[in-house]
Amino acid sequence: MSIQNSITSLLKTLPREVRLVAVSKTQPNSNIEEAYAAGQRIFGENKAQELPQKYDDLPKDIEWHMIGHMQTNKIKYIAPFVTLIHSVDSVKVLEAVNKHAAKADRIISCLLQVHIADEETKFGFDETELRALFQDDYIHSLAHIKIAGLMGMATNTEDEDKIRSEFRTLKNLFSELKKYESENVEMKELSMGMSSDYAIAVEEGSTLIRVGSAIFGNRNYSNQ
Ligand SMILES: *Cc1c(COP(=O)(O)O)cnc(C)c1O
Repeated sequence: MSIQNSITSLLKTLPREVRLVAVSKTQPNSNIEEAYAAGQRIFGENKAQELPQKYDDLPKDIEWHMIGHMQTNKIKYIAPFVTLIHSVDSVKVLEAVNKHAAKADRIISCLLQVHIADEETKFGFDETELRALFQDDYIHSLAHIKIAGLMGMATNTEDEDKIRSEFRTLKNLFSELKKYESENVEMKELSMGMSSDYAIAVEEGSTLIRVGSAIFGNRNYSNQ
């Protein structure tokens, strides 16, 4: 299927309130332009240092979302233009985003990444850490970030019940944390669901799905 057709048929299955982040990591600009021609405006990338070039080369009404783990020394590359960072996975990263947002004279919207999967390697806060963080005044005082919700990745498994239960856990946490909303904490986005599991994520309350291979086909990492 063409990129355009993949996007069109995917969007038909989504409730209106769920937004699609087209994950364009490793894709050439021509593929991004094809998705753009189909009306897609939100693209997700995972390498901060590659984003400024894409931002320069591609249409300015694209919303660039960062979805991958960031080293704090790379945040400066995206701070001037990134629309949403899904992958804030530590207080250190949150502080670095706040610092670079201040330098860029911006307020940057962030999602806190929560570790919901079984796999050891996935980054993110655990539930206990996150509750403590929201209860503390500190994050509510960071003037150049807006915490807009949570992001999570389910375990890479065929077991749909397990995936569903991990997404449900994240949604419950998201709802629970609403009681700590403040000037700069507003829980409105829940980023969950990728090519293999976005249908389950949508049923469990996702507001942003991050889909790559189901749109662009399998990634060819040897191009990198
Ligand atoms: C690559 C990636 C995706 C998209 O994965 P697909 O399986 O290609 O849809 C989604 N979220 C994150 C964080 C990713 O790194």
